[in-house]
Amino acid sequence: MSLLVTSLQPQTKGARAFLARGTQRMLIGGEWRSAVSGETLDTLNPATGEVLGRIPAGAEADVDQAVAAARRAFDDPSWRDLTPAARSRLLWRMAELLEANLDELAELESLDNGKPLWVGKYAEIPGAIEQFRYFAGEAMRIEGTTIPTSINYQPPGKKIFAYTAKEPIGVVGAIVPWNSPIVLTAMKIAPALAAGCTMVLKPAEDTSLTAIRLAELMVEAGFPPGVFNLVTGLGERAGAALAAHAGVDKIAFTGSTEVGKLILDAARGNLKKLTLELGGKSPAVVLDDADLELAIPGVANAIFFNSGQVCVAGSRLYVQRKIFDKVVAGVGEYARGLKLGHGLDPNTQLGPVVSRRQADRIAGYVAAGRREGATVVTGGGQLGPAGTFIEPTVIVDVKPAMQVVREEIFGPVVVATPFDDMNEVTTLANDTDYGLAASVWTSNLSSAHRLASAFRAGTVWINCHSMFDASLPIGGMKQSGWGRDSGHQAVDNYLETKTVCAVI
Ligand code: NAD
Repeated sequence: MSLLVTSLQPQTKGARAFLARGTQRMLIGGEWRSAVSGETLDTLNPATGEVLGRIPAGAEADVDQAVAAARRAFDDPSWRDLTPAARSRLLWRMAELLEANLDELAELESLDNGKPLWVGKYAEIPGAIEQFRYFAGEAMRIEGTTIPTSINYQPPGKKIFAYTAKEPIGVVGAIVPWNSPIVLTAMKIAPALAAGCTMVLKPAEDTSLTAIRLAELMVEAGFPPGVFNLVTGLGERAGAALAAHAGVDKIAFTGSTEVGKLILDAARGNLKKLTLELGGKSPAVVLDDADLELAIPGVANAIFFNSGQVCVAGSRLYVQRKIFDKVVAGVGEYARGLKLGHGLDPNTQLGPVVSRRQADRIAGYVAAGRREGATVVTGGGQLGPAGTFIEPTVIVDVKPAMQVVREEIFGPVVVATPFDDMNEVTTLANDTDYGLAASVWTSNLSSAHRLASAFRAGTVWINCHSMFDASLPIGGMKQSGWGRDSGHQAVDNYLETKTVCAVI
């Protein structure tokens, strides 16, 4: 089977002018710079394999400069002494600028990542905007407490007055992946800057274009020079240098569990604070009393949306035995009906995955599943001019020990298993190193909440999947990570608590 994908050009003037530059630059201390080495990396459109432009191949020397700029900005009264309301206004302004440039950003993201235009336009960029708005509010709600103590050895006639103050951690290194670049970046920038930190961002090498455009908007919003810095480049060079840098106080990382462990090692030198939002292998569980008109498209979208490149994707489907064949057939039919194509084609429902390397990796998992005795009932093909399109794929006859069941594939591939009762599905769902998310589909309120309680996962959805909001904490148990992004407590990821105890 072949897939014809023709080259499409962006419609917005902004996206066309941005791409016409050819070679992009990074933002360090308020200046736009090339890499110290002068080296660049090509960035490709995964739908066609065409070169979209070049980004600086930042490395150790560039990270040094960016961290020094972030430190200077952190110590500078123009940022340090800003009132919470002034920080809030800057974040709000950033939300407005993202909104004003939404169409351009959605086109750039679609070209760079491959995702359909509508995903950026209606889900991810609005999601990023809401992060800035939400944390603009949180910037004005950072408070310590006064604490009555029981210390009984104060000097006679004196009292103890104790309180806590919240202070920004300092220079934050943020490292993000390629699957949903703008929103995952906003999830780092907005709470960190709300807290009063400064930042060096290292976007994924495959999808740095919208981070560069976003950096331009940060300048336009009026953040003082050095408060936000951008270093593009390879993970093993720029990312590793940032994770190990002695001038960085905290790393906020989103990416794979494998790289998360490397970050942990690198952060050891100066005991950096860490938040790690890592991989997942999330179960979607359908009980036999579920509303199948809701559940079948629901569990299909849980895995196929964004071509399965979603950390919380429902990649393990468990269906109660009585309805197993019906649900698997329904998900297969849904998959076969999805239209694959160029992200800028308005008819496209599923774009390519981010790169040939990722497509080959996914295809390798499907082949491994077949070798281990699983059956591919739908999809399984690798298509397109650059070999980057993966047919939405449904696999059955799987065993818990198989690679396709245990490892994060990060593509549009779901493995389906029948179960008999709630105890069995609890064991199956929790039989994983990951603990990011889960969903349960049922019309029985008690079953829903009993399973929500039994699943070892950071988020459990009931009769839905992949529902995100700036107000809802997201993050993982077990090897899915440390800490939570989003929600009001995410500001605490970027704050230190100082205790002040006085004899008065
Ligand atoms: P990745 O771990 O390969 O890369 C993530 C980032 O780390 C990139 O910017 C990369 O350049 C950088 N990096 C790579 N090697 C590095 C090193 N040695 N030192 C420092 N930085 C390094 O992940 P990916 O393939 O880009 O993204 C997919 C992964 O992200 C999946 O595992 C997915 O589940 C996870 N993810 C998690 C969440 C969450 O909220 N938990 C959200 C989105 C994606």
